[in-house]
Amino acid sequence: MSSTIKQTAAELARRIAAGEQSSEEVTQAHLDRIAQVDTDVHAFLAIDAERALQQARAVDAKVAAGERLGPLAGVPIGVKDLFCYQGLPTTAASRILEGWIPPYNSTVVDRLLAAGLVILGKTNLDEFAMGSSTESSAYGPTRNPWDLERIPGGSGGGSSACVAAFEAPLAIGTDTGGSIRQPAAVTGTVGTKPTYGGVSRFGVIAMASSLDQPGPCARNVLDAALLHEVIGGHDPADSTSIDSPLPDVVAAARKADIKGLRIGVVHELGGEGYAPGVEQRFAEAVELLSGLGADIVEVSCPHFDYALATYYLIMPAEVSSNLSRYDGMRYGLRVGDDGSASTEQVMRFSRAAGFGDEAKRRIMIGTYALSAGYYDAYYGSAQKMRTLIARDFANAFGKCDVLISPTAPTTAFKFGERTNDPMAMYKSDLCTIPANLAGISAASFPIGLAAEDGLPVGLQVMAPAMADDRCYLLGGALEAALNDRWGSPLLDRIPEVGQAAGREGRTR
Ligand code: GLN
Repeated sequence: MSSTIKQTAAELARRIAAGEQSSEEVTQAHLDRIAQVDTDVHAFLAIDAERALQQARAVDAKVAAGERLGPLAGVPIGVKDLFCYQGLPTTAASRILEGWIPPYNSTVVDRLLAAGLVILGKTNLDEFAMGSSTESSAYGPTRNPWDLERIPGGSGGGSSACVAAFEAPLAIGTDTGGSIRQPAAVTGTVGTKPTYGGVSRFGVIAMASSLDQPGPCARNVLDAALLHEVIGGHDPADSTSIDSPLPDVVAAARKADIKGLRIGVVHELGGEGYAPGVEQRFAEAVELLSGLGADIVEVSCPHFDYALATYYLIMPAEVSSNLSRYDGMRYGLRVGDDGSASTEQVMRFSRAAGFGDEAKRRIMIGTYALSAGYYDAYYGSAQKMRTLIARDFANAFGKCDVLISPTAPTTAFKFGERTNDPMAMYKSDLCTIPANLAGISAASFPIGLAAEDGLPVGLQVMAPAMADDRCYLLGGALEAALNDRWGSPLLDRIPEVGQAAGREGRTR
């Protein structure tokens, strides 16, 4: 492995700005790494090598001209294939968008380019970001670099896996019910779901508009914060974008001092159904945080027990409406247009052929929940429960500054284990969904490997809306303490891709 690809994003940017290494070299090293391992990992759906190298050379020219650059200029990044990026197909991992090339950039892509980041390509995901394993991608799943037989989480498995496999130091994801945090947890990486409205959704293919939120994926807390700062902040093109300044997430990530921070452990997010290895690492992390001077209290959020059911009414309702635009007329796939078929038939054939099972399942559930006779019973009740969940958070934040829980009930599971049982798949997001329903900020940080299988475990931190800095404050302190204890970052222990290293002895 070249030493370049092992560096943090912050260190790469420093070297590039200091003229010690060119962005072109850094970019080429990552393209080489992708060529070497991505046939196994399959984190990328499209590689944009030529344009990436051009962008890198443009940064190098600015360095040569003595221009002052942003803190991530010249650093390569992978972008989930849900973000419009002019000139490159955007598929949402669905057949229905196959071959569609967006005519404009999402705000996130524009901000990355303006900050001098180099876009390597588009990363894999579950179809339309629906899933927890990337198994619903129409283009085949991504594999977890810790163990190629296992899922990398989802929906943003490609983004987290490319970061874990050292194919890119950074990636962009979206989180509707956990799609940044759960993949981060099961790949031993960092992932943040910003406050709803904190990062622009303009130009992001919508799944459930009241829940979707773009955010950063990285290998360490500071890199995630630096990326958050690049993509965050008000955007008039997104009507739900919050028009107030982003909290100082970078300073928070650097602070590494949580003395007196009041941390609430959520009673409802643990216990039955949680893997012993997950609970053990979580309990140790709580002890560690207490040792760092934080005040730990247990809090109860009784309505969290209904969060999954609430999400699986509100989300499909929004999905059924958002996905109605894919009709074989305006974008991508068109089936059966042989001159004799009616418009309605072409729409029907195109949707039947273009959507996978999970997308169809959710469109049907959502349409049902919104139908005239059932609207109050299903969608209406779910909206009421959403309010009660937000109130649980408000009460808890009256007593503590942040809340914590495991990020996911289990470590990475094997391919096929949950594909025939949608409920089992949905339960992967038990811990992450409440934050989306309430629109607050949350993140996942690695806390070690589970004793029973040697696979990564994540800790979730949740903070009030627009207090994203608190997530980074806790993450930075936790990371520093764990690196101290272990002597190196967790990802130093990942086996090289394709080398079937036994996982025994990999616990800590
Ligand atoms: N896994 C959850 C789902 O299937 C969350 C997806 C997401 O956050 N995009 O809906």
